[in-house]
Amino acid sequence: MNISRLGEFGLIERIRRRVRVGRGVKIGIGDDAAWVTNATGSSLVTADLLIERIHFDLRWTSLFQLGYKSLAVNLSDIAAMGGTPAFALLSLGIPRDFEVAGLDEFYRGVNALAREFGVTIIGGDTNVAGSLIISVCVIGTPPRRPVRRRGARPGDDIYVTGTLGDSALGLRLLKENPEGLRRSRLARALLKRHHQPDPRIEAGSLLARRNLATAMIDVSDGLVQDLSHICHASRIGAVVWNERLPLSRAYRRIAAREGTRYALGGGEDYELLFCARPHNRARVEKLQQRAGVAITRIGTCVAAAGGVTVVDGMGLPIPTLLKGHDHFKRADRAERNSSAL
Ligand code: ADP
Ligand code: MG
Repeated sequence: MNISRLGEFGLIERIRRRVRVGRGVKIGIGDDAAWVTNATGSSLVTADLLIERIHFDLRWTSLFQLGYKSLAVNLSDIAAMGGTPAFALLSLGIPRDFEVAGLDEFYRGVNALAREFGVTIIGGDTNVAGSLIISVCVIGTPPRRPVRRRGARPGDDIYVTGTLGDSALGLRLLKENPEGLRRSRLARALLKRHHQPDPRIEAGSLLARRNLATAMIDVSDGLVQDLSHICHASRIGAVVWNERLPLSRAYRRIAAREGTRYALGGGEDYELLFCARPHNRARVEKLQQRAGVAITRIGTCVAAAGGVTVVDGMGLPIPTLLKGHDHFKRADRAERNSSAL
């Protein structure tokens, strides 16, 4: 059987069943980061792989942006557990003809973000490859109780930080009209979101420290898809209010006619999606200021293990065509998310 039939989720589940869980693993495969312990303490650990022409395209991404983003996506996974990043291992597969100046630019981008979040690059590996391959592993400090994808209960509120869909919309604009883009301030705002996402470390950490989030994930593959991971892990369903989805001013101006399509299914937002008990509503709302990011209530958890339902203002379900990313599914089966390829 070909792996494209399993899909990314099925593939990881198959791997999970085949690896042995040893001592010291408090959280293993299946969350945004693992939580491991040894005699002297515990750490959160996460890794991500970025491959040229699949995850990024050097025709419209600068090496500075690529360095920044390679680290940002990993910090986002630490944020999703409520942790604080500390160290990173960065491994590169580099084509033989790659320019040295480009490599310097890449590390300038890495360092810009690393400095901002107090992360030190402690090592990695380097080898020659057919195209640029970047693998980053981040080690972080956990909160007392890391927040998992499981833990949400029926009746919990569903929230998201920041705004959704900007990154995927930015990428679409890049592909369609890279020249026109630089002239528009709104478009540049979308591009910034695509190239240099803000990992929501402070929000995640506050939610964990105050015990407010019952489940959490970062939105990397699209809201509907990532919420369905929470549903699956927590054995619940979710209802999302389409009209409450937080859209940026740039999104509203540029893609008004396309409604919430990019907010629901576009990938690479790197916002935090979390659930909280309704009696904590005021406390969650208050957090916005200290976290430095808006937090919007977008739905509610329900008992049925029926996945995610998006409803309109009348409460009627609306079909969601764009379901988010799965790099292993073929384009003819799952509509491709704009950021895949
Ligand atoms: P994210 O989108 O947050 O990076 P992924 O969907 O990539 O999460 O991964 C989900 C879970 O599967 C994580 O716990 C990750 O560590 C694990 N995982 C992914 N690929 C592999 C693999 N090849 N072997 C073992 N675990 C994996
Ligand atoms: Mg994640």
